[in-house]
Amino acid sequence: MINIQDIREDFPILQRRVHDRPLIYFDNAATSQTPTEVIDSIVHYYTHLNANIHRGVHALSQEATEAYEQARHKLQLHFNAKHAREIVFTAGTTHGINLVASGYGQLLKAGDEIVISASEHHSNIVPWQLAAAHSGAVLRVIPMDAHGVLDMQAYTAMLNERTRVVSVQHVSNAMGNIHPIARITELAHQVGAVVVIDGAQSAPHIQVDVQALDVDFYAVSAHKMYGPTGIGALYGKEELLNTLPPYQGGGEMIKEVHFQASTYADLPYKFEAGTPNICGAIAFGTAIDYMHFIGLEAMAAHEHALLQHALEGLQSIEGIELYGNPNLNERTAVISFNLKGIHPYDVGTLLDQMGIAVRTGHHCAQPVMDCYHIPGTIRASFAVYNTFEEIDLLIEGVKKAKRMLA
Ligand SMILES: *Cc1c(COP(=O)(O)O)cnc(C)c1O
Repeated sequence: MINIQDIREDFPILQRRVHDRPLIYFDNAATSQTPTEVIDSIVHYYTHLNANIHRGVHALSQEATEAYEQARHKLQLHFNAKHAREIVFTAGTTHGINLVASGYGQLLKAGDEIVISASEHHSNIVPWQLAAAHSGAVLRVIPMDAHGVLDMQAYTAMLNERTRVVSVQHVSNAMGNIHPIARITELAHQVGAVVVIDGAQSAPHIQVDVQALDVDFYAVSAHKMYGPTGIGALYGKEELLNTLPPYQGGGEMIKEVHFQASTYADLPYKFEAGTPNICGAIAFGTAIDYMHFIGLEAMAAHEHALLQHALEGLQSIEGIELYGNPNLNERTAVISFNLKGIHPYDVGTLLDQMGIAVRTGHHCAQPVMDCYHIPGTIRASFAVYNTFEEIDLLIEGVKKAKRMLA
């Protein structure tokens, strides 16, 4: 068993007060809080290690390079990539998906098909719209049911020899639904399509094994995994990263530059143009260490218990509308809900006055809200440091908000 009080002490921000109340932070699907270990590794970098990497013969540059590459190795082990060179540091999930989509925008031809799902975050919609516009490819969308569960029959029927790319989220940010990625990938591969996964919501909660899933690309953000903002990673199978055109040109990503033509660096540097977020990458590695120190299974078990406790409490409120898969084994600890006849923004504002941070709105998944004909939801998303007592206060808060707004 993990001791949540001990874990809470690792997160200094949880000592904060908001509107003169203790902070209850339930916006973890937007960004998670940062443990002291990760903050310390950022301070350590700028105090002891700061230098540009892969360039200097001097000791500081070599030490910084070593720490940066060690972080890449940690990510390789964590996601079980075959090679460290299959891990590209990015600015986050959005950057990773754009890197892949812009490459396929150049490789695809008119009439090729790109498949996404109705549940996607804008980050996994717009880059593919751009790729389709650039190449003349057609965008197709896997429909979902009233619980946000993807229609696998429709998906299977959609696949054909023109399908070149299937790009879907592993877990929905709006509802927490876990999609059947292994099966989606297997079916896509049967028609020769590559599979790109938006892992922004899965990586913080699920042990991801890219080889077991057999996915071709997998994009994540550190700031949702107890790491800092502005850094993420893209996994890509070596042979596919080799055929993908570079995303940005500049220093670090080249072998030789001449005015007639240039040659590109080997993986992963071909995709890391310019001075990267060295400090961020190292701190991301520390965040991964932190997750393993707590234990991914223990974290998931605690979060699942929180989800169950919260759903039981919320379900008892009359007029509540809950979204997402009712099968909790296919959910991470995200709850989207509305109170009948009340705008989600008003509930969110009252909860904020009580020190409770939730997200309201469309959660960057406007098509999902369109599907339900609602302007948005109230979303509470949990992390390892949240407690049952905090959830009881949320339920009390929602009841109070309902009384005030009814
Ligand atoms: C947060 C999120 C993104 C975007 O991540 P950034 O860190 O903002 O680049 C993409 N997809 C999903 C499902 C997300 O939750």
